[in-house]
Amino acid sequence: SDHRLDYPNSPDTMDWSKMYPNFYDSELGKMTSKVEIADIGCGYGGLLTQLGPSFPESLVLGMEIRVQVTQYVEDRIIALRNKHAQDDYKYDNISVIRGNAMKFLPNFFYKSQLSKMFFCFPDPHFKQRKHKARIITNTLLSEYAYVLKEGGVIYTITDVEDLHNWMVQHLDEHPLFERLSKEWEDQDKCVEIMYNSTEEGQKVTRNKGSKWVACYRRLPNPEEC
Ligand code: SAM
Repeated sequence: SDHRLDYPNSPDTMDWSKMYPNFYDSELGKMTSKVEIADIGCGYGGLLTQLGPSFPESLVLGMEIRVQVTQYVEDRIIALRNKHAQDDYKYDNISVIRGNAMKFLPNFFYKSQLSKMFFCFPDPHFKQRKHKARIITNTLLSEYAYVLKEGGVIYTITDVEDLHNWMVQHLDEHPLFERLSKEWEDQDKCVEIMYNSTEEGQKVTRNKGSKWVACYRRLPNPEEC
């Protein structure tokens, strides 16, 4: 439940400086970068810890609704930062926030702010009457399209074939998304990271389950063509 969720009234009032202190210019009093990569429902943070070093110049954010899981990821990031304080790469570009991605995303992010959004092993909500709780729906896709920049990419992966088909169907139907090819997937380093690095994905590997991937590019708005 989100009855005690804190969220900003608008992206203008969001303070990122404590989450990414090395990307805050205290003389100018503002951030030097914005969050560009979001891991929605990040769970225990395995994807964040791999994306961070792969995109050291970009701010990467995990969003997670469960309090204790968010706390775990916070502690994990603090430990990584301490351990790597003397290294070239210090895990200073990854962070996590507690939030309900199905409700408040435009409160956190400006229009066209994000270049990549990950939906890794989202909860399947198997029962028909629970399908509206799925994290990919027409309404939510319009919100994701709003915060994604033109050319930005939605990454999805799941071990539930029915959910995969559901996500593909809704993304295919949405006018602002276009599926990327298998060839594109094969050469994209994020697909490989997503396939192997999340805790849920590793569980699926251990259980010898299947994983379905679908990636979509954010198209230009029709009136802007
Ligand atoms: N992505 C991680 C992975 O692959 O290991 C976690 C997958 S887990 C099956 C789904 C996660 O999504 C859970 O941690 C859950 O708490 C989170 N979640 C579910 N609904 C959410 C929402 N509306 N906003 C943010 N996180 C959510």
